Amino acid sequence: MKRFSFLGIICVGISFITAVILCVQTFFLPQSVAAFGNEGMRIVVDAGHGGIDGGVSGVRTGVKESDVNLSIAYALKARLEEMGFEVIMTRKTEAGLYGAPTKGFKRRDMEARQKIIEKASPLAVISIHQNFYSSRSVRGGQVFYNGEQERSGALGEAIQTELNTLYGEIGVKNRGAKAGNYFILECTDFPSVIVECGFLSNPNDDELLCSSTWKGRLSQAIAAGVMGYLSGSFA
Ligand SMILES: [Zn+2]
Repeated sequence: MKRFSFLGIICVGISFITAVILCVQTFFLPQSVAAFGNEGMRIVVDAGHGGIDGGVSGVRTGVKESDVNLSIAYALKARLEEMGFEVIMTRKTEAGLYGAPTKGFKRRDMEARQKIIEKASPLAVISIHQNFYSSRSVRGGQVFYNGEQERSGALGEAIQTELNTLYGEIGVKNRGAKAGNYFILECTDFPSVIVECGFLSNPNDDELLCSSTWKGRLSQAIAAGVMGYLSGSFA
């Protein structure tokens, strides 16, 4: 009898300790998830340039970077929404965000983007651009991140990996994500990256960047990078 109740006490004790551990876990786990949950499942997609600032142009097709950026931004928005994210676009039309096209328009345009980002409190900011380089042979995707911010670096690496896989399929050699000093990266504490989807200075990339199939694949790769980054952040 005595031995029986002794076992009973041990059982109750173990149950109690298990319950305490479970309580502590459920108390602390949502805290770490809440670090993201409080910000909602929002992503800001920023289509670079717009209006009187067309960015660079395709060497073969003459396409304006601002137009390519906007169509990739919309394709990315669709992908991310399919995944359950709420997407906030900075630039929604061909127009820039600067108001009147007068002196200081670029600064006003960038500050308007910053305001949208701060109001959205997003998990990530993805700024879509196209690259241009003096050597026409250079091609592929290139991500820039804020070198002072670990989360921006992790997001940049995750997207770069996916872009390398995509361009690797057509024989383009891998590029590395780079730290850069750009307004859109430094204007906010939310992790922000610039995704240069390809080189408009390379005739092959230029043609690809005008293809809706390729733009769809690029947006899929970028969305996969965002997911890779977020799953790493929650792990
Ligand atoms: Zn650009």
